[in-house]
Amino acid sequence: MSYTEIKKRKDKKYYYRVKSIRKGKKIEKQRIYLGANLNKKQLKDLEEQANKKLLKPTDYPKKETNLKEDTKISRENKNSSLPEQLNAKKSNFPDWMSQVLQLAKIIDNRYDIKSMFVWMPYGLDMMLKIKSFWDKEFKENNIKEMYFPLMVPMSYAEQNDSWWEGFKEEGFWAGKKNKTEFILRPTGEPAMYPMFSLWIRGHSDLPLKIYENVFSYRYETKQTRPLIRDREIGPWYEIHTAHATKEEAEQEIKIHKKINDLIWKKIAIQPLIVKKPQWECFPGAEGALEYYTLMPNGKVLENGSLNNLGQAYAKKFNIKFIDKDGKEKYVWQTCTGNGERYLSAVIAQHGDDSGLILPPNIAPIQIRIIPIYKEKDKNQIIKKAKEIKEILKEFRVDIDLKENSVGSKFYDSELKGIPLRIDLGKKEIQNKQITLFLRDIKKKIQINEQNLLKEISLNLKNIQDRLLNNSKKQLKESITNVNEINEIIKTIDSGKIAKISWCESGKCYDKIMKLKQGLELFGSDLNQGKLKECIVCNKKTKNMAYVANSY
Ligand SMILES: [Zn+2]
Repeated sequence: MSYTEIKKRKDKKYYYRVKSIRKGKKIEKQRIYLGANLNKKQLKDLEEQANKKLLKPTDYPKKETNLKEDTKISRENKNSSLPEQLNAKKSNFPDWMSQVLQLAKIIDNRYDIKSMFVWMPYGLDMMLKIKSFWDKEFKENNIKEMYFPLMVPMSYAEQNDSWWEGFKEEGFWAGKKNKTEFILRPTGEPAMYPMFSLWIRGHSDLPLKIYENVFSYRYETKQTRPLIRDREIGPWYEIHTAHATKEEAEQEIKIHKKINDLIWKKIAIQPLIVKKPQWECFPGAEGALEYYTLMPNGKVLENGSLNNLGQAYAKKFNIKFIDKDGKEKYVWQTCTGNGERYLSAVIAQHGDDSGLILPPNIAPIQIRIIPIYKEKDKNQIIKKAKEIKEILKEFRVDIDLKENSVGSKFYDSELKGIPLRIDLGKKEIQNKQITLFLRDIKKKIQINEQNLLKEISLNLKNIQDRLLNNSKKQLKESITNVNEINEIIKTIDSGKIAKISWCESGKCYDKIMKLKQGLELFGSDLNQGKLKECIVCNKKTKNMAYVANSY
């Protein structure tokens, strides 16, 4: 049943439409804010609108309601129980992804603006762990953190007409009521580069190497998906650098690539890096490298780009310096960015039908201890659980002390992708043996209590390595050499990436892109192959390109 709650604060009345949902023994409330000091007519209309938005009980993400509250549940049986509310990953990946994001409490997507959501503590913790990797690397490479305002004045935005053409249509506008004066940052350049032109004067001001951790805003018109295509994008980083020479800018790109490769390794993902076709780079840019990650439905997701901007932006924004030879020159610039899509790759590639599978490096909880007891042994077993937690204090450990059934605790631990679970019962204590459940391979092992620290450490490392190896294997198996143009569709429709010989001409590119909607020739391999014929025009080439369905 829906009803309206009225809250009084000072002299104002605030109205909320509320719906209560029973979830097992608990009642949860959904609330929609209607407004303040409403008259009867307004209230009635708003109540009706809100009723439509309040979810039906069947739409509402359920947790443990379909697991029986049964303390005698066999541990073995519940391990593999498939939560009804999570679709099989393979059969419907997009649904699985949005369900797991909600159920594992990474985000709450019920916020009432399309494609903007709330980062929940569990999800934000992972994201901030990934952020801590890049913060550390940037610091070590002398890239300084800064912050620029979210609002970009028109005078800055219009300074680069080609950039402006691309973004004004999908900009979020802001300003005084009924007046739009600013645009919310869709990318960093228009806020940063006018300032660069004030800061850079002489050779000694270079290189300028900065980054910011931000959210960016784009009024996406394509289909949006949380963590993949959002209107509020982030958290993410943007590195922007300015250099005296082209060579230094090229060198900087290599550093950004090295840093990114390191982050990928830490999060146990093997991406594919490609060189973008020239016409897909920023106008006037020297070139761009882009990472792509494999999604379970065979599509590829662009996942970070490294741009050698050349002097195109410097000329638009008038970023000049007096060089050692006394001559005035434009700077050479680079920019590199990525963020939340790192996490989407981890969730998408490693998760399974039971939920997330997290690399220990980013898992908010690395080990969960589940005490299993009859009432009379409760104190003894909980005491033991606390002792184990103390022994393992160098790791992120928690003890599940909730008064739920053991089955629902197992379910929760698997859903959240906690790498290791310790099932601690009376038997374990008596035998001085610890039962360890490895989330990634869903296997139980017994270890001697005296080897606990060593075994935990080893198993966490093994999980991290296994996940990275799985990702490498998936990518390798998915890349298929294709020599005939009419084989391309068949290959990508079977969920693979087609690797083809391509002469790098726009004409042949167009012919491939026209084969099918959603297909993309997304770039060339960084290494050249053997001299072969272009799949379209038969011209000899060593260039090899990748074609896949893309997001
Ligand atoms: Zn060709």
